[in-house]
Amino acid sequence: APSLRLDRLLGNLGYGSRREIAGLARAGLIRLDGAVLDRADGRIAVTRDLPERMSVDGEPLDPPPGLALLLHKPLGVTCSHKEAGPLVYGLLPPRWRRREPALSTVGRLDKDTSGLLLLTDDGALLHRIISPKAEVAKRYRVALDRPLKGDEAAVLAAGTLMLEGEEKPLLPVRFEAEGERQAAVTVTEGRYHMVRRIFAALGNHVTALHRDRVGGLDLPDDLAPGSYRVLGEAEIARIF
Ligand code: URA
Repeated sequence: APSLRLDRLLGNLGYGSRREIAGLARAGLIRLDGAVLDRADGRIAVTRDLPERMSVDGEPLDPPPGLALLLHKPLGVTCSHKEAGPLVYGLLPPRWRRREPALSTVGRLDKDTSGLLLLTDDGALLHRIISPKAEVAKRYRVALDRPLKGDEAAVLAAGTLMLEGEEKPLLPVRFEAEGERQAAVTVTEGRYHMVRRIFAALGNHVTALHRDRVGGLDLPDDLAPGSYRVLGEAEIARIF
């Protein structure tokens, strides 16, 4: 496993400046396998199990880099580091917003879309999920302004629908009617405002949009909007 100086490891996890971390060490607040680490310049092997073995001020160490989170995105927050207004990153603990490498969203959900959003600090994992080749299925539950016509499933299965302003037709989209003005759609591509534009192309209008599944991962029923969980290796594998 790669090793890092303790002050670097904790600094990258957002615990503070080098000086602050040296202070935590001198105060006897950092422990590894039960023993106090009183110097911040010693090297630590960075392994997955560090949170079980290391504590800071009595709390388990935050997960080392290679982190993936499943967040229940509420309405009204933006998937951006820069834009004005409430951001998804504001839902994370302040220390997690200072991590290096930074956590970023895996793709985006619109401000007015809720549901399953992944975040990771692992660029390779991010690219594996959003790569068109991976064809990771994303399922959306949709509320509509107008009643369904009945031809939506066939039109979307054909793989010929053109979105306004685009040159390539959509790959086939799985469509399931769930009520007069409700449906579930499953897409593998990731185009800008894709689901809203699909229904615009079908002559309808999306009034509410919620993502409840990515690959084989479901949004847990007991995860409240605004809450998140750290994913384990087995859960990450279920995405693909
Ligand atoms: N399609 C959209 O139109 N919006 C989203 O947030 C996700 C998919």
